[in-house]
Amino acid sequence: MSKEIIIIGAGLAGCTIARLLADNNHKIKIFEEKNHIGGNLYDFHNIKGILVHKYGPHILHTSYEDVWKFVNRFSKFNNYKNQVLVKLNKKSIKLPINLDGIKELFPKEFEVFNKEIKDKKLKGEAVSILNLLNSLETKESRKIVNYVYENVYAKYTAKMWGKTIDQLPKFILERVKINLNKEWNYFPLDKYQGLPVDGYTKMLEKMVDNKNITIEFNKNIVDELVIKKNKIYFEGREVTLFYTGMIDKFFDFKHGELEYRSLNIKFENHDVTSFQDTAVVNYPLHKTMTRITEYKKMTLQNKKGVTTISKEYPGRYDKDDKVFHTPFYPINDDKNQKMLDKYLKQANKIENFYLAGRLAEYKYYDMDDIIFECIKNYKEF
Ligand SMILES: Cc1cc2nc3c(=O)[nH]c(=O)nc-3n(C[C@H](O)[C@H](O)[C@H](O)COP(=O)(O)OP(=O)(O)OC[C@H]3O[C@@H](n4cnc5c(N)ncnc54)[C@H](O)[C@@H]3O)c2cc1C
Repeated sequence: MSKEIIIIGAGLAGCTIARLLADNNHKIKIFEEKNHIGGNLYDFHNIKGILVHKYGPHILHTSYEDVWKFVNRFSKFNNYKNQVLVKLNKKSIKLPINLDGIKELFPKEFEVFNKEIKDKKLKGEAVSILNLLNSLETKESRKIVNYVYENVYAKYTAKMWGKTIDQLPKFILERVKINLNKEWNYFPLDKYQGLPVDGYTKMLEKMVDNKNITIEFNKNIVDELVIKKNKIYFEGREVTLFYTGMIDKFFDFKHGELEYRSLNIKFENHDVTSFQDTAVVNYPLHKTMTRITEYKKMTLQNKKGVTTISKEYPGRYDKDDKVFHTPFYPINDDKNQKMLDKYLKQANKIENFYLAGRLAEYKYYDMDDIIFECIKNYKEF
């Protein structure tokens, strides 16, 4: 098969596939509708010389050896470890909540709680909050767990997803753990974490810096594609197509519009060396904002007297909205899943047509999942 290979989208999925195929001597052309590489990962030095992430903070964390090996071909990584604080009224508490935080929030009830988790052989473990709600019995322990559930997790998650607590899919809160120890690491299960030392944009530029790969920016060719007898043609030639954009948009929203959450990300520069104690601070009790990120603290950029932060405000994605027009988080509930299945059925009928990434597969992928899937599916292409 020597059909021309086209990739739509120069985000992480598009760049990874391009490089994997280029390593196997395929020639690839990428079309990207934006004027830059990287999709959500795009970062740049702002007017103050600070490296910021345009589409919100990104930390690579993984236990996949192949993924770690792959990204390290294109960049060194710093040793940033994500340590997050949560602001509860005036207090800053470590997240996920651990025994230090519980003691600080509930000094009076702590002893009873501590004894109960010891008696129930839970001490030292990371335990799902729903599990704790069901297993702890003393009124002191229940007070603590109920407070943490409501104020730290449920309110934040509800604001994030624009739903009341009861409407949230159970799996979202099932993932939430309390550390019944002193651990303070947001991604404790992952062997590797960090950020590329010169940023994601530079890393991806290096990934596609190969004689077999060309990229054209500011170009969306979807309307120029012709599908005839389950084959795809571009400019009259039959092509192999990797698509990493929105699947519903590709098919002109024929089966309806898939729902997403979006974010309004507001950046601010401050003439101080440090704005907050950690790179990320969550605000579950704030009416509209979810978190503040101070970029220098994760890029480990050493710059005195100035810093840049971003504040995130979630909202319902609407392609025509002035603010919430970027599709960030797929909402994988039953309604959207049924719609997605119709699109996937239609896509699967087309020969040499491959969907990859968050928007095309409509999956809540982290960066390492994207690279893992691409390696699994296309390394031997
Ligand atoms: C706020 C936020 C924070 C995140 N933080 C983390 C984190 O800390 N760690 C982590 O592992 N993951 C994180 N993620 C997830 C991560 O962003 C994604 O896994 C990854 O960026 C998805 O890459 P992608 O290539 O699938 O999609 P995208 O990044 O969306 O790239 C798709 C590209 O295709 C282009 N495109 C779309 N349609 C067309 C078209 N018709 N023609 C031409 N070009 C087109 C788009 O312009 C875009 O450049 C976060 C996501 C968000 C939203």
